[in-house]
Amino acid sequence: MKISLIAHDEKKPEIIQFAVSYKHILKQHDLYATGTTGKRIAEATGLSVHRFKSGPLGGDQQIGAKIAENEMDLVIFLKDPLTAQPHEPDISALGRLSDVYQIPLVTNLAGAEIMIRALDTGLLDWREIVKEDE
Ligand code: PGA
Repeated sequence: MKISLIAHDEKKPEIIQFAVSYKHILKQHDLYATGTTGKRIAEATGLSVHRFKSGPLGGDQQIGAKIAENEMDLVIFLKDPLTAQPHEPDISALGRLSDVYQIPLVTNLAGAEIMIRALDTGLLDWREIVKEDE
């Protein structure tokens, strides 16, 4: 599965802890991330992460483009709900495309924990069928 990991600055410690905790699952998948998030995760875990641009410089839009091309299966995006983001339109656009294409998107750690376990038990395997039908 192709998984995107994104975290706003205040949430980066959480996503790094998440990636360390679930490294045994994440390493079985293709990982993508916005620039800084990806760099920090790769440094902390040693996992290979394809890095897009930093979020404010277009990284969220690049991930949105992958969704539009049916090349992304899951987005874990730890958002900071207490800080205004300069690239809010891009963040909204990513959420919209996830809804358009029925791509699972979680935006907080509680959802991420459930989703990664769901992934590991095969609950997202329907994505492979969707891709075969394309
Ligand atoms: P970053 O981007 O991983 O490059 O910090 C995330 C974001 O703020 O959308």
